[in-house]
Amino acid sequence: MLNQFVLGLKCRVCGKTYPKQPLNFCTEDFGPLEVEYDNAAIRTAVDRDDVERRPRTMWRYRELLPIDAEPTVGSHVGGTPLIRADRLAEDLGVETLWIKNDAVNFPTLSFKDRVVAVALSKAREFGFKTVGCASTGNLANSVAANAAAAGLEAYILVPADLERAKILGTSVYGAKLVLVQGTYDDVNRLCSQIALKFHMGLVNVNLRPFYAEGSKTVGFEIAEDLGWRVPRHVVVPMAGGSLIGKIYKAFQELKRLGWVEDATCSMYGAQATGCNPIADAVKNGRERHRPIRRPNTICKSLAIGDPADGYFAARLIRETGGWAEDVSDDEISEAMYLLGRTEGIFAETAGGVTVAVARKLIEQGKLPRDEEIVLCITGNGLKTQDAVASVVEEPIVIQPTLEAFEPLLREPVLT
Ligand SMILES: *Cc1c(COP(=O)(O)O)cnc(C)c1O
Ligand SMILES: [Zn+2]
Repeated sequence: MLNQFVLGLKCRVCGKTYPKQPLNFCTEDFGPLEVEYDNAAIRTAVDRDDVERRPRTMWRYRELLPIDAEPTVGSHVGGTPLIRADRLAEDLGVETLWIKNDAVNFPTLSFKDRVVAVALSKAREFGFKTVGCASTGNLANSVAANAAAAGLEAYILVPADLERAKILGTSVYGAKLVLVQGTYDDVNRLCSQIALKFHMGLVNVNLRPFYAEGSKTVGFEIAEDLGWRVPRHVVVPMAGGSLIGKIYKAFQELKRLGWVEDATCSMYGAQATGCNPIADAVKNGRERHRPIRRPNTICKSLAIGDPADGYFAARLIRETGGWAEDVSDDEISEAMYLLGRTEGIFAETAGGVTVAVARKLIEQGKLPRDEEIVLCITGNGLKTQDAVASVVEEPIVIQPTLEAFEPLLREPVLT
């Protein structure tokens, strides 16, 4: 299979077009670049039936992704479950609730495996032997693992105060891990300089237009699993603000292909109060977000003070009739526990943010109780165990006897 569907790159601000290349900003106005496709060619090359016959990975939508040949990295990524969450729905007081569970994505248990699979496949097409990223944790894990499996050398830069599990979950893959004494925005600035000076494919810097397209597969999978239908409301955690826009873009692309009838969907953004630039912009009616200089939250994966796609995310949320909210660290921990004990899903702090924000928006009447809602769970709780340790019930220690066990029973149990 050879894809000839990518026309090039286009500036989201001024519309200037560029040939496809590892470049993420417009040289005229520094606007972000986005991949442009030949939509007519895609329509004749593939239909819904073709997609349904393929293996359940993100690559069943390969014609809608910006690679020119078969993917060479991350061939098993995606195809995560969409779960009907009736027990959580009851707790939140809504009728129809779904969870898109990317906490079980392969291989590194977050949705970042999707963007990395596209970015590293593209890096190889561009001829890069060395890759890397600026990361708040999950991207570090994913670039390291997928680069190892593909035999690429990887340099991973992260803020020095990252969770231990995310540090170890990067080092184990043999990547060169660099702890930078600064915020994520400091790390990102350094990576932009590195990309200009050295011949490296940095997945969320010079490869960002390609990387970001991988997030569309979350939206494709949600719509397909609903029987080729777009849900009315979707709640998405926001860091750089890319994922939320790409899920919406996925729905619009399916509509344009005629694979879904209607793509009306309101998008809701979730952040932690300790780093809430996009939610703050939405709530205060500001067109542009104010960067947060010193993020301070247990949700490190979302702690980007100056989000690259913040402006577009805030605009999308407003234009689709959605809203944004942010929640405290205590609310995050409580919501992680709630999700665990109602649905049996152990999500990381970002999942706590999503569930807690959904609860807040429902209470505010911003999310209607009688319409279909999808929550995007994007990362795994095993990586952020400390965040929930203080709110769960303490285990009980006993001697190995029936007499010691019996008093623990909460209600009479039939023998
Ligand atoms: C990166 C990340 C996000 C947000 O992604 P953006 O596209 O940068 O907004 C959400 N959840 C988790 C767990 C992440 O690691
Ligand atoms: Zn431009």
